[in-house]
Amino acid sequence: MKKTGIYKRLLYVAVFPVLVFGLLITIFSYIRFKKSIYTEARTDMRDVAQSMLLAYDIAYPGDFSLVKNEEETYDLYKGDVNIVEDYSIIDRLSQRTGTQLSILYLNTRVHTTFKSASGNRLNGLLANSDTVDKVLYNQKEAFYEDIDVLGTEYIVLYVPIYSSNGSVLGIAEVAKETASLKKNVIRAVWPILALSIPGMILAAFIAFETTKHITDVLRAIQVFLNHVATGNLQAELNTKYLRREDELGEISRSSVLMQKSIRASVETDPLTGLFNRRYLLSAVPKITERAKETGEPYCVAICDIDFFKKVNDTYGHNCGDDVLKEVAKTLKQFMERKGFASRWGGEEFVLIFTKFTASEAFSSLDTLMETIRNMTIHSEGNDIRVTLTIGLADGDDGDINHIVEKADEKLYYGKEHGRNQVVYEIPKKDD
Ligand code: GH3
Ligand code: MG
Ligand code: MG
Repeated sequence: MKKTGIYKRLLYVAVFPVLVFGLLITIFSYIRFKKSIYTEARTDMRDVAQSMLLAYDIAYPGDFSLVKNEEETYDLYKGDVNIVEDYSIIDRLSQRTGTQLSILYLNTRVHTTFKSASGNRLNGLLANSDTVDKVLYNQKEAFYEDIDVLGTEYIVLYVPIYSSNGSVLGIAEVAKETASLKKNVIRAVWPILALSIPGMILAAFIAFETTKHITDVLRAIQVFLNHVATGNLQAELNTKYLRREDELGEISRSSVLMQKSIRASVETDPLTGLFNRRYLLSAVPKITERAKETGEPYCVAICDIDFFKKVNDTYGHNCGDDVLKEVAKTLKQFMERKGFASRWGGEEFVLIFTKFTASEAFSSLDTLMETIRNMTIHSEGNDIRVTLTIGLADGDDGDINHIVEKADEKLYYGKEHGRNQVVYEIPKKDD
């Protein structure tokens, strides 16, 4: 089935917001978690920086200072002690906290746990100007996400190191690999994703199924209406759609009602209210088919009002019409539970007896003949009486025109032999 137009649009309206909503929740929670995890890391790193400085102060009281040695290089002193080769405090703390630590004298790393690939400490590296600005000159903290050191991403916190006279003489640096933090963020977001993805899939599935269901019903109604529009008045709409209590059910019921009223006006004779020849022609093939399947008999009678022209001539056309209506009414009543009556044309009517053999119908027609004979039709002050001549033929697997032709022969015989009678068998000539 082609699924375009309204199907696509409904699907879009139903699924798109669900997906966008799920995506927004995920992005929003990622941002929130990242922020809180990074803030927490920053606090931890500040503690680490303070611990580092405190550990040095306790081990070696006094200020950091750089002192030129005999080899014309600088040694790092803490108080009176040369700590240039002593990395025990900084290395231990680095290991315990999973961070990289550095002490910068003014803007230069002079004591660091950062090592190059060959294992050399990265002393001598300079801090960038922004850090120098914030920490050395403004005595504030500096914090950066995603700083690249030798190909590894770090978040880095810089805090001022104060001398005993309160001026800033350097910077303590704490760096933590972002990979582990990102892992924590993902670990925090994951349960939300794990819940929202099935939720999104479920919502999308429900939206998809509902859309499919609605468009399937619409499609069935459209196909049905298409049949009706192209003249197939026998088309059927599945009763499950007619039973629906929603708007689609109402549309279905209206469509079927419309089909019924079109059929009524197309298949009914306006003067008598009986089925017309069009209906008869479409109904008989089905009756023939069913009779063949079930083996049940059916038969056909053609009724013609005797001397009807005279009625018109004597009482006028309107009275003629009234006679047709009254006869039609009688035929309709008579055929209840036997089959149906139809107007073949003019003052001729065809009766279809379902489940009746011609001889069964023949006996029952006596009643009809009696009723008609005893009937007085009152029209425009006139009392009019009429009689019928009827030809009766068995149904067969031929077409209705052929069966009516057979019945017509018998009708003709009846007309030739005194009218006002039912003819089923034409006596042989020498009878
Ligand atoms: P017979 O006994 O041989 O059948 O004679 P008849 O006069 O009934 O037959 P005929 O075919 O000569 O006349 C039928 C008349 O029926 C002619 C026609 O004007 C009339 N007729 C056909 N349709 C209508 C109708 O709708 N209304 C009226 N009032 N008359 C109709
Ligand atoms: Mg006639
Ligand atoms: Mg007639």
